[in-house]
Amino acid sequence: MRKEARRGKVLVSGLIVLFCAPVTLSGDERTWIYAVLIYTGCSVAFACLVVIMWSDPGVVKRSPERCFPQPKSIIEALSESKGVNKIQGNVKVGEHVFCGRCLVWRPAGTKVHHCSICNRCVYGFDHHCGVFGRCIAAGNIRPFGLIIMMGFATFWTWLVFLSSELLWDLGFQGGYGEVIASVALATFCTWLLLLIIVKACCVCPHKQ
Ligand SMILES: [Zn+2]
Ligand SMILES: [Zn+2]
Repeated sequence: MRKEARRGKVLVSGLIVLFCAPVTLSGDERTWIYAVLIYTGCSVAFACLVVIMWSDPGVVKRSPERCFPQPKSIIEALSESKGVNKIQGNVKVGEHVFCGRCLVWRPAGTKVHHCSICNRCVYGFDHHCGVFGRCIAAGNIRPFGLIIMMGFATFWTWLVFLSSELLWDLGFQGGYGEVIASVALATFCTWLLLLIIVKACCVCPHKQ
């Protein structure tokens, strides 16, 4: 997971440098609006990264009240020396569910799932993110959504800026034609990237 978390930090920091470098180096007054948008997007994304990395995703905390009394079937399985890893599934007792892997009672009436990578139960679990090395759950799903939105929005703005610079150098200087061509090219590339990412994603196999 540490390797995963490092990957996430390097990826976001690398993208921030990649997006900020051209507008910073350009120093062109004509494109100041792109600089403002890109710096804003990167600042928000960085703040989201900090929250995702260092906040509690919503782990069901272990405590004597949360762990005991254990259901009979769990006590039997443990006494037979099956070991915690051999106990499969959850034990339902009335309204309450006991997780047979991390051995805690899940609070009744809440959406809790077990993450098989972190080996813990988490409130509002959505998936385990392989990029950030964190469960994405109730505590961090908003900054996670925002960092993705900022990523695409900043990527799009960065492409519009690059297209505009390219068209300017090719002689299409000023006018609506240059703006429309830049926006169209950037939108097409962003849509293509989005399509590739959606195709590559699948249902989280770690949700139990
Ligand atoms: Zn669990
Ligand atoms: Zn996890």
